[in-house]
Amino acid sequence: MASLVIDFHTHVFPDTAQKFLPVSNELRKTVRAWLRPALENLHESGTLIRHLPDPLRRGLDEVSAVAPVSGLLLESTTDDLLETMDVNEVDVALVIPHPPTVSNDFVLEVCARDERLLPVAYVPKDAPKPVATLKALVGRGARALKIHPAADGEGPDSARYKKLLKAATEQGLPVILHTGCMHSSLLFKDSSLSEASLYAPWFKEFPKTPFVLAHMNWHAPGVAMNLAIEYPNVYVDTSWQPSEVIGEAVRRMGPERILFGSDWPLVGNNIAIGLERIRECVRMGLMSDEDADLILGENARKLLRIEGK
Ligand SMILES: [Zn+2]
Repeated sequence: MASLVIDFHTHVFPDTAQKFLPVSNELRKTVRAWLRPALENLHESGTLIRHLPDPLRRGLDEVSAVAPVSGLLLESTTDDLLETMDVNEVDVALVIPHPPTVSNDFVLEVCARDERLLPVAYVPKDAPKPVATLKALVGRGARALKIHPAADGEGPDSARYKKLLKAATEQGLPVILHTGCMHSSLLFKDSSLSEASLYAPWFKEFPKTPFVLAHMNWHAPGVAMNLAIEYPNVYVDTSWQPSEVIGEAVRRMGPERILFGSDWPLVGNNIAIGLERIRECVRMGLMSDEDADLILGENARKLLRIEGK
């Protein structure tokens, strides 16, 4: 195991849902354990969807995008996250807001509770002064900027995004960009805006800013790898991708810009499954132990300027 394990992509949810579900924590844990095999299948089938013809894939995307929602009743709170980090020996997790469902304020409060949790800033579309909002969030501890074009319904030409990118560059913040077109009319305004290649002009215009392509462009990870090969400031996270794809990324772009990310808790048990996929890569000879150490924490530690253990 790496000297420091950092999960670059997690979310937490307010525990209001639990209030509607009058069950004890013990029962939630038991049901979680029962669901493990089904969730494992969901993780597996998710990566197979991409090989289907487009109309069928769109339909299945719609279903698989909402399937995890009920699981949030069982696993999604700050305590749940800290518990799974303990069990899986994860030292640090970046927590990403998703306003209005999960606000910046909520994430900042959660992260103030435990130094292992680091907040990310997400400037909502209706924030009257985006740059001032970002600066204030950084002042309160935010360590990266999240941009989610599909949820915002904005693309690479957005003047608001450009202003935010300029400010992020001045503040030395990495930018986490949601990539990969998962077709969900329920969750996203325009999923086609998640195609990673649309943002190549940004990688060129802001060469000093590290861009992390979250989910490695999901159904088309080769595109993310090509971008990383072309632009030295492009990183990828491993969330949602199977071992073969992570191994291919190591082979094609090298291990230094690949970051372990789980997207916990959106399918359930993600951290355990995500870590297992990296270990599997080592067992299959797709990466060395040293590569795994870089991916599991060393790369993120450098990017976030965290002191070593
Ligand atoms: Zn996410």
